[in-house]
Amino acid sequence: MNYKLFNTIAFKLTLWFTGIFTICSGFAFVLFYFLATQTIQAQVDQELMDNVSKFSAVIRRNGLMGARELAVVEAQAAGEKVIFFRLLYPTGEVFASSHMSYWEQVHVSKKGLQILVLNKKPIFETILIPSTKQKARILYSYVASDAILQTGIAMDFPVKFLSAFKKVFITAMGLIIIFSAASGWLLIRKTLAGVKTITRTAQNITGRNLEARVAQTGNKDELDHLATTFNAMLDRIEELVKNIREMSDNIAHDLKTPIARIRGFAELSLIHEENMEDFCAMASNTIEESDRLLDMINTMLVISKAEAGEGEFDFKKTNLSLMIKNACDLFEPLADDKNIRFDTTIEDQIFIVADTKMLQRAFSNLLDNAIKYTLENGKINVIVLKDNNCIIIRIEDTGIGIAKKYLEKIFQRFYRTESSRTRQGTGLGLSFARTIVRQHKGEIIVTSFPGKGSVFEITLPYRNPGVI
Ligand code: ATP
Ligand code: MG
Repeated sequence: MNYKLFNTIAFKLTLWFTGIFTICSGFAFVLFYFLATQTIQAQVDQELMDNVSKFSAVIRRNGLMGARELAVVEAQAAGEKVIFFRLLYPTGEVFASSHMSYWEQVHVSKKGLQILVLNKKPIFETILIPSTKQKARILYSYVASDAILQTGIAMDFPVKFLSAFKKVFITAMGLIIIFSAASGWLLIRKTLAGVKTITRTAQNITGRNLEARVAQTGNKDELDHLATTFNAMLDRIEELVKNIREMSDNIAHDLKTPIARIRGFAELSLIHEENMEDFCAMASNTIEESDRLLDMINTMLVISKAEAGEGEFDFKKTNLSLMIKNACDLFEPLADDKNIRFDTTIEDQIFIVADTKMLQRAFSNLLDNAIKYTLENGKINVIVLKDNNCIIIRIEDTGIGIAKKYLEKIFQRFYRTESSRTRQGTGLGLSFARTIVRQHKGEIIVTSFPGKGSVFEITLPYRNPGVI
């Protein structure tokens, strides 16, 4: 492992989950603790208020003497360390109380008394008994028009309950956090194992070995989907690399022949150094071969640039009918030489916006192929027609035809079928034609039957150039 543990997704996710879990449970604890405190306090307050009612009733029935007795009896019944009662005059003077030895540090709060006298509403307060460090809840309330009850309950039990709850909760939370972090870590690592497999496969792939594929789990989950996509990408890369290899082999082959010829002419000129006529012939051959090479390189550049969207095209209004007629006129003598019948049906006055030179070259490539791959006494038919929104240029021949498996490949750069290798060519003609037609937003399709002939059809979108 040459990456740090802290940088791994498994570690980060575990940290996140544990963090989120801790925050959520902390929040839940605070909420629960707060609610429990509130409920307990409300219960204690209610108990204190019940005592006020009891004292008021007794005073109504038996006067202040009755209240005196009740204070002692009630405190004894509940426990003198649990509750106390003090009966006061509104001046704050104590006239009766339960047994107060445990509560002697709890004094009468002057401030509380003042507020009570002013508002006549019961006053609650929570105090800390200094000697015992215990909390107590105290209530001041009128029990008669001239008597106030100060009563207090020790908060021992609720405080103990809450602190026990705190301890249990913190211990349980600690254990749960450790458990969830450990199980989260294992779970995430197990889930991410698929990513590791993909990484390992990618590492095993080199320029020479593109066969490795990620094993699929069949779980139909995201990782399985990633593996499928990854494998599909590898398939495409493998296909592309294969094509590039084929193409570079073809380029090497196509460059070798003319260069070998040029070299041959140069060698011959050294041998026949005294004959001027031979010199001239060899020089012109060399120029011819060099031109072919240059032409091939230029065509390659035009295709590459156009495919990369950097082509320099000179689009202008063009008489397509005339352009095609002129190209046909140029090629007719070649057809005649092979005794091929050359028919044309070209609709007049079709105008489009196009790069005339490029489109003519693309069309000429198709005508050149039709003548090149049609045997003597064959037939070629050129049809050009237009309807509302498209122009169709069809070149039909009765040539050697193309096997179905090559129909898509013949448009690739430098691709030539075995049967065409005896004829001159570089395999760039169709690739160039398709690139140019596509630059004009059109398409070329081919239908062909070996031994019967081929039909190449260019479709171009038509818009009246007058309104463009
Ligand atoms: P060049 O670069 O000189 O045009 P090429 O004619 O071999 O060389 P393309 O025009 O790209 O190259 O054609 C590619 C291949 O498609 C040809 O080698 C040939 O096998 C096949 N092909 C093209 N047109 C026809 C046709 N009309 N009939 C039969 N085969 C054809
Ligand atoms: Mg060709």
